[in-house]
Amino acid sequence: MAKSPEVKLAVFGRAGVGKSALVVRFLTRRFIWEYDPTLESTYRHQANIDDEVVTMEILDTAGQEDIQQKESHMRWGDGFFIVYDITDRGSFEEVAPLRSLLEEVKKPKNVPLVLVGNKSDLDHVRQVGTEEGERLAAEMACAFYECSACADEGGAVAEAFHELCREVRRR
Ligand code: GDP
Ligand code: MG
Repeated sequence: MAKSPEVKLAVFGRAGVGKSALVVRFLTRRFIWEYDPTLESTYRHQANIDDEVVTMEILDTAGQEDIQQKESHMRWGDGFFIVYDITDRGSFEEVAPLRSLLEEVKKPKNVPLVLVGNKSDLDHVRQVGTEEGERLAAEMACAFYECSACADEGGAVAEAFHELCREVRRR
């Protein structure tokens, strides 16, 4: 029997955007309010995606790494999430530089990437419009999801993970 494919996914984004909450939501379908923000973890998870069992290794970065650590995480990964918080414009502004670093590290490869705008439940304090996220994703030629780790209606979080796996498998 063919060995099931393995994909390495790394989650990037400013500290506090909800990377850990998103990963844990995906893995457990639950929301946990508080994580140690300095913690970096990897998880293994199997999922059936388009009738294929895929093993994911997921690296939840802390978001406070120096550039060498970032680059080494980028070399490790096959596919990447860049997460921002829709209530934190600064986190949105960090997306493009992260993408540039990714391109630089992975050159000349085309980098499988998904952009995630998290905390969509906090629409009343939103600082980044949905269209801005869509526009940036179009510029980066990647998929875009707005979602909420704490109120994940419709399973957008799992959809984003599955889409990134597909993107990696297509390469
Ligand atoms: P990380 O530093 O990117 O890993 O962020 P965390 O996952 O530790 O989340 C940072 C803070 O944002 C925590 O207080 C979480 O409870 C909160 N948080 C994460 N995701 C959401 C979300 O979708 N909605 C809301 N309202 N809060 C969230
Ligand atoms: Mg974290």
